[in-house]
Amino acid sequence: MIIVMNNTATEEQIENVVSRIKQKGLEGTVSKGTEKTVIGAVGDERLLDPELLQSLPGVEQALSIVKPYKIVGREWHPNDTVVNVKGHLIGGDHIQIISGPCSVETPEQMKKSADGVKAAGVKLMRGGAFKPRSSPYSFQGAGLDGLDMFREAANNSGLPMVTELLDVRHLDAFLDKKVDVIQIGTRNMQNFELLKEVGKIDVPVILKRGMSATISEWLMAAEYIAIGGNHNIIFCERGIRTFETAYRNVLDVTAIPVLKKETHLPVIVDPSHAGGKAFMVPALSRAAIAAGADGLLVEMHPNPCEAWCDADQAINPDELKVLMGELSAIAKILGRTISD
Ligand code: PEP
Ligand code: MN
Repeated sequence: MIIVMNNTATEEQIENVVSRIKQKGLEGTVSKGTEKTVIGAVGDERLLDPELLQSLPGVEQALSIVKPYKIVGREWHPNDTVVNVKGHLIGGDHIQIISGPCSVETPEQMKKSADGVKAAGVKLMRGGAFKPRSSPYSFQGAGLDGLDMFREAANNSGLPMVTELLDVRHLDAFLDKKVDVIQIGTRNMQNFELLKEVGKIDVPVILKRGMSATISEWLMAAEYIAIGGNHNIIFCERGIRTFETAYRNVLDVTAIPVLKKETHLPVIVDPSHAGGKAFMVPALSRAAIAAGADGLLVEMHPNPCEAWCDADQAINPDELKVLMGELSAIAKILGRTISD
């Protein structure tokens, strides 16, 4: 960290900053220029609080020079992390598609969904049992019964189950049902207590981007999970809020190469909640894979017009199958594979 003192800083104020730096176990080296004095703090600068230093008399600015995140950063771990979900790999050369309905509705719907997922060659299935709806009058999800329905469909089809955890009070039920991947939704990206809890377990976590979160906030949210010991984290870009009203959210394709540079963890894309309409899903999916995403989370319903939640954005099983063919071709050009 570099601490810039203002022109009128006294010797005493400079000494005070140096002693604060030393108290945290870092070295403080003072460089006196013609106009300003600069203090370099050498050591683990994450131990220093720039805001606190900036509040000291005589300090003009405290500038961090290392990234605030550590475990999830590429600086710390240069090689790609490959997350293994029951033998299905995500990251590195491996692209993985996850598909299924927005919400778990009935055992029949889950069976038909699993059939559609398998017929398309997709290896992991999604479905929400607990739904974070904007209106309290909307369907809130089938809850614990939904988890049971999903578990049964997953067992019968052999597809690992991916489902959203909304509340820390449901974590034991998720572990009991052996949920294969826990999804943390956009509304909970900064629910730090929830993040700390999923950090303590060894179930892979999909961390969706908060709808107005910066890349840096998103990385720090992942760091909350990683610091607990769970490093099986997958980022999921799902569209961000902008001034545009013609679609539900704006898919931030730029986030893909930026995140891939900043983190070794896999990055996937949810084209469904980004566009909000089924007709946009194939184009956004192709763009995401072309831009380097390690996978997709796509809403598919056996009968979209009948879906209890997000009917407008669900593609049908036939559309998923066509999309898989297109994505395989794009992956091949990039020297990657849609993995088993
Ligand atoms: C979902 O995947 O069903 C969902 C609610 O997504 P998001 O958190 O991105 O809105
Ligand atoms: Mn949905």
